[in-house]
Amino acid sequence: MTVNLCQACGACCAHFRVSFYWGEADDAPGGIVPAQLTEAISPHLRCMKGTASKPARCVALEGEVGKRASCSIYPQRPSTCREFDVLEADGSANSRCAELRTQLLKF
Ligand code: SF4
Ligand code: SF4
Repeated sequence: MTVNLCQACGACCAHFRVSFYWGEADDAPGGIVPAQLTEAISPHLRCMKGTASKPARCVALEGEVGKRASCSIYPQRPSTCREFDVLEADGSANSRCAELRTQLLKF
């Protein structure tokens, strides 16, 4: 995530199901995501607790969405979160981020 804008947002952490390969959790060799903050959704996938159903809110999200938000496990967040940013890898705007901010936060 792009830190400055994201610190006033947090919308994606309170909207999407945040799923990832189970081996990213720290009860697997080399995993870093705290396993106690995850739940299984299939034999090979887990998600962050709080994001499997609506209304979603990741258990690791701190603060108030749209005002001041932060990830309490930022260095240990899953790849799904690392890959979702204000910008795409090629520098273009991430349309899903923009749509979410427009719909939920009006900015
Ligand atoms: S929706 Fe976009 S701006 Fe908001 S926290 Fe997620 S990546 Fe950052
Ligand atoms: S792990 Fe952190 S960055 Fe990922 S959804 Fe949860 S609060 Fe957001």
